[in-house]
Amino acid sequence: MMFALAAALGIDLFDSAAYALYAKAGRYITASGTHDVSGLEYLPCTCPVCTSHTPAELRDSELLARHNLYVTFAEIREIKQCIRDGTLWELVERRCRAHPLLLSGLRRALSHSDWIEEIEPQPRAAFFYTGGESAGRPIVRRYAARIARFSPGVRALISAGKHDAEEDFDTVFGFVIPFGPYPVELKETLPLNTEPPESDYEGLAAALENTRRLIEMNPDTEFVIDLDFEHPLLDKIKEMGNVKTLR
Ligand SMILES: [Zn+2]
Repeated sequence: MMFALAAALGIDLFDSAAYALYAKAGRYITASGTHDVSGLEYLPCTCPVCTSHTPAELRDSELLARHNLYVTFAEIREIKQCIRDGTLWELVERRCRAHPLLLSGLRRALSHSDWIEEIEPQPRAAFFYTGGESAGRPIVRRYAARIARFSPGVRALISAGKHDAEEDFDTVFGFVIPFGPYPVELKETLPLNTEPPESDYEGLAAALENTRRLIEMNPDTEFVIDLDFEHPLLDKIKEMGNVKTLR
C-alpha cells in the first residue's frame, strides 16, 4: 500500500477507487500487498467480511470490495495513529518493503530528506531502525547539522563501548548507529536512546560520516577513537592528522 508513503510526503486527502477496481479484478488487498482471491485458502484479516465468509465466498466481487474497503480504512487509521505517535517513517519503511517500486519511491523521497527535514516535527518516539533506509530519515539529517554545536575541548574520546580512563578526556562521545558521535550526557535523550542495529552498512556510513565531520570541524582537538567496525570510512578517519586509535 502506498498511502503511508504518500502521507509522509504531505498528501492528506485520498480519493481512491482502488478497492472496487481491485475487487473486480479479483485482487484481495492487504497492508503488505495483494493476493489473487482465487488462490487464497486462508483469509489473513479480521474484518467483518473475512470473519463471516470463506475464501471461496469472497470471489464475489461485492464482498471482496467490502473487505478491500475495510483494510483501506484500517490503513488510514494506522497512518493517523503513527502521525500522532511520531512513528510515520517506520510505518513507511515497513510498507515500502512490500514492493520494489515502493522501495524505489521511498529512496527517491529520502533523496530530498534535507528539504523534508525543514518541516519534520521534533521526535516524540524512540528512533526505531528498520533497515538501510532508516539512515536517510530527515531526523538523521537534522542530527548531522547538530554536530557543529559540539565543543570537544583539547582531548576527546569517541567510543562505542565503555572506557576506563574517561577522566583523561575533556569530552567523551558515545557512538550510535546511524547518528554517530554524541556527548555521553545525552545518551538517554531523543533520538539517541535508540536500540541500534549490531552493524548495518548504510547506517554505519551515516554515523561514520558524522564522526569524520566532527573531527574535521575541530582540528585543534586530539580525538582518540575506540571503534571496532569494518568500514572503509573508518579506515579514512584513522588516517586523519588529529586522530589516535585505542586499537
Ligand atoms: Zn477482511
